[in-house]
Amino acid sequence: MVSNLFKLISAGSLPGFLGRRGQSESQICGAVSFRLFIPGPVELSEATLQAMATPMMGHRSPEFVELYRSVQPGLQKLFYTTDPVYVSTSSAWGVMEGALRNVVKKGVLNCMSGAFSDKWFDVSKRCGKNAAALRFDWGRAVKPEKVEAELATGKYDAITLIHNETSTGTMNPLEEIMEVVGKFPEVISVVDAVSSFSVLPIEKDALGIDVLLTGSQKALALPPGMALFSVSRRALERAAEVEGRGYYFDFHEFDRNHQKGMTPSTPTIPHLFALKQQLGRIEKEGLQARYDRHRRLNAMVRGWAKDRGFGLFPEAGYESVSLTCIRNDGQVDVPSLNQFMRENFAVQMDQGYGKIKGKTFRINNMGNETEETIAWFLDCLDQAIAAT
Ligand SMILES: *Cc1c(COP(=O)(O)O)cnc(C)c1O
Repeated sequence: MVSNLFKLISAGSLPGFLGRRGQSESQICGAVSFRLFIPGPVELSEATLQAMATPMMGHRSPEFVELYRSVQPGLQKLFYTTDPVYVSTSSAWGVMEGALRNVVKKGVLNCMSGAFSDKWFDVSKRCGKNAAALRFDWGRAVKPEKVEAELATGKYDAITLIHNETSTGTMNPLEEIMEVVGKFPEVISVVDAVSSFSVLPIEKDALGIDVLLTGSQKALALPPGMALFSVSRRALERAAEVEGRGYYFDFHEFDRNHQKGMTPSTPTIPHLFALKQQLGRIEKEGLQARYDRHRRLNAMVRGWAKDRGFGLFPEAGYESVSLTCIRNDGQVDVPSLNQFMRENFAVQMDQGYGKIKGKTFRINNMGNETEETIAWFLDCLDQAIAAT
């Protein structure tokens, strides 16, 4: 690792990064840490790592209730909701599966346009739900008029939509889709905002989203292992009528415990400490400044790609602002680039996801990234392209 450290210094180091690398080598687990530029998990701040190391408290203690309640206002602001925000000790998929078990009685329409949304359809079937697929090619956006035509058949009482399809770097037109969904009062909407939450405003109540969920390791820049979600009253009413909700993801268990400032089972308390710290950081930066920063960093990456002659994978007009999915038409060998980045800069880059691995690669701009860190990464990538 000594040679990597030397190269890091010569490449121009990142603040707060070298120090952590130095520390990590003396840690008991001995894991080598890479500077992450992948679309999740994203790089953590030193303050977040320190918050995670706070001593534990009992999860039925008054101190816990205070901690739990203290994060609610910040979360409700980010969710743009007056409904409670629940904390799940699971990755996002726990809540994605749980939502199906809670709200689908008659049938669910799964909008599909990439790896995560395709899988959600599979999960619906595995839960024994009557599920139908509304398919779009990878990289295409979900089209509101197709959603409307399908919902108009009357076969559904729920719909799932991924706002930002992370695998293809495509952002779906959420407002337009929710406008259409709103025409069907029977339909409960479940929206995955895992890789768009806090990148741009997603106004849950104003858009009429029934279940809005996110994970910890994307734009919130927390470690993986926690999901956050908010549920409308009418979705809770629906859940009350649905059999087989189970226990761990039962929305009513969450709601009952929420009233007491608690979670159904022992939660990931370290994540709550870290969440509190990150909410403080978000508050300090200001929401609009945060959204503006994500847009600027995203524009930097897109500009870089354009200048180097790369096209983007997503359909024009629907490119994500959380990450950039770059089309590789043979200009670069992505595995070689990745190896060079690891060995010379101790950076972990993305190599594309699922069936478009290698034909694309993605650059993350979610979380705590800045002009400085993105410029550093792009400079490293230029050197890697020149060398491979
Ligand atoms: C990362 C991601 C998920 C999955 O999150 P897990 O934490 O692995 O459960 C789901 N949906 C989207 C859009 C994602 O980006």
